[in-house]
Amino acid sequence: MKLSTGFWQTFKESPADAEIPSHKLMMRAGLLHKSAAGIFSYQPFTLRVIQKIEGIIREELNKADCHEILMSMVTPGELWQESKRWDKMGDLMLKAKDRGGRDVCLSPTNEEAVVDVFRKVVKSYKQLPLTLYQINTKFRDEIRPRFGIMRGREFTMKDAYSFHADKESLDEVYEKLHSTYCDIFNRLGLKFKPVEADGGAIAEAGMKTHEFQVLAETGEDKIINCTKCEYAANVERANTKRVNNVDSYGEKLEVISTPSKSTITDVANLLKIEESQCLKSLVYTYYVDGKEFHVLVMILGDDELNEIKLKNYLNADEVLPANESVLKAHNLEKGFIGPVGVSDLKVVFDNGVNKDQAYVTGVNKVDEHYKGFVPSRDFKGSLEFTDLRESKQNDLCLNCNGKIEEIRGIEVAHIFQLGSQYTKALNSTVLDKNGKAINPLMGCYGIGVTRIVAASIEQNHDDKGIVWPKEIAPYHVYFVSIAKSDEVKQVSDKLYSELLKADIEVVYDDRNAGPGFKFKDADLLGLPYQLVLGERDFKADGKLEIKNRKTGESIKVDPTEVIDKLKSLINE
Ligand code: ATP
Ligand code: MG
Repeated sequence: MKLSTGFWQTFKESPADAEIPSHKLMMRAGLLHKSAAGIFSYQPFTLRVIQKIEGIIREELNKADCHEILMSMVTPGELWQESKRWDKMGDLMLKAKDRGGRDVCLSPTNEEAVVDVFRKVVKSYKQLPLTLYQINTKFRDEIRPRFGIMRGREFTMKDAYSFHADKESLDEVYEKLHSTYCDIFNRLGLKFKPVEADGGAIAEAGMKTHEFQVLAETGEDKIINCTKCEYAANVERANTKRVNNVDSYGEKLEVISTPSKSTITDVANLLKIEESQCLKSLVYTYYVDGKEFHVLVMILGDDELNEIKLKNYLNADEVLPANESVLKAHNLEKGFIGPVGVSDLKVVFDNGVNKDQAYVTGVNKVDEHYKGFVPSRDFKGSLEFTDLRESKQNDLCLNCNGKIEEIRGIEVAHIFQLGSQYTKALNSTVLDKNGKAINPLMGCYGIGVTRIVAASIEQNHDDKGIVWPKEIAPYHVYFVSIAKSDEVKQVSDKLYSELLKADIEVVYDDRNAGPGFKFKDADLLGLPYQLVLGERDFKADGKLEIKNRKTGESIKVDPTEVIDKLKSLINE
């Protein structure tokens, strides 16, 4: 590709909304054209990166017996009504009516559509297992599109769906694709970690789900990672053991005066006790099938509630902190809330709370707390315990007692055992061995193709610009020619055609611009190798320079050696 006739412009500044390195660099390097919030056009270099990523994904999935199809981007509302997700998807799904007044939407995901494709064709267990995939555009009307194509509204996803006659087959394909994903991300040159993920409330028992997280400080996801064993989980789902468990405070239930002490920290300071000797009372409103309920959650004073665990436990569509009118209706006093005497409200304790130990808790009266509150003795309702606390740094691993650390990641892929929820909802059946109609089990396997571009830059850049890994770099070589005389220009042009003939992926900077300008652009774009023909040096020693963008190392080469040398560097 010749830059003099190409379509590329870099920028000195990045836009104000670009907060993280990948977004800033993509904008400065002219790789993205923003057309609306979270909606972008891709510049030719970007498209090549995306196509290379897609190529690697395709190769590995085809090896794993997956079959590529392409489903429509617009799906009929009917399918979503069949699965009862038309309303559940909420504003994330962009809906419209066609000219005949029929509901349609832009696909945010394709479970319904793929079951529809499947059910019309597959009728027997003999045709199973079957895995279909596509690489296609998705639209999700995200509340907060940000970080460029990291969290766009329109983006490219690879989504695969597998169908099975039994759980054994689902497990087998799930494990195979788990390892295929590891191969894909290794080939993409990413540092990543598969982690246990949240399966949501609807997940059928025994169903597995994992995310593939690219490790980066700027990642939106918090990962709970054991420093000793393999255990790693998204914090949404992580389950670990607390440390710093302390003794009972108080013996019998008695009221103590705590004037104006309405936070755990204030109360603990006043009484000179640990925060974990107090119970934190949190009131939540939750919705199940559109109906509103309320719950009082009790956790240790120095723990935080994991709202996703609460949502799953309650089988709720949504959970949110209750407002003051809810507190009033249940005679709960903000800042002094406690479970004693509460009978008109569901009360749930976190497993971290010891039911036989004494704690400090609110009285539901201003300026008063109890000490000596023992759940098993002093709470008169039925005792409900479950895991609700958020795992944190320095917890201990449940598998090996190793120390837990928090790290950050970018979710580039998510695999999920779905069970039969969609085949049931869409009434898709096959005949099993005994001629009986069954709803096949499904797995689904997503990769955020365009998110990978951003994630890769997040891991591969320096203060001068992007440093593409060879596997997905838009081209391998940036050929900077600093030719003033016609004679040297001709040498450059000739070398460029030879590079093309030798199938080297090369960008030829033959623009009429100064060396400083060209080198800056070369560094910003970040192709793995820079080939430099400088008129003065060339005239002096007849050699060119090959520079490694990542290490900065450079070597001098004779024009006759350029092709062989580049080939061996690219293939090494
Ligand atoms: P997130 O938690 O980041 O919103 P998700 O869990 O909703 O993602 P999935 O439904 O699991 O996403 O989609 C599969 C993959 O698609 C994700 O792992 C991610 O890599 C990618 N993806 C999801 N949403 C976006 C988005 N808004 N922009 C770019 N890629 C996305
Ligand atoms: Mg996900």
